[in-house]
Amino acid sequence: MAEFYIETNEKDTGTHLIHFASCGALPAKQEIRYLGSIASFASAKTEGEKIYRHVGACTACASQYAAA
Ligand SMILES: [Zn+2]
Repeated sequence: MAEFYIETNEKDTGTHLIHFASCGALPAKQEIRYLGSIASFASAKTEGEKIYRHVGACTACASQYAAA
């Protein structure tokens, strides 16, 4: 399990990025929303899609996805 956050601000593309709690590129607390302790990134994306229409992956976290 890993803890995930989603950005409350959308990117220019209209996408809200999902991050691991440990991500070095995680925005300030007031700009993120806690998704929960989730088994995989894919599941975290599903949770994010319940909140926002367009959900994407933070590229800074990308190397961790396979291990999550
Ligand atoms: Zn990230």
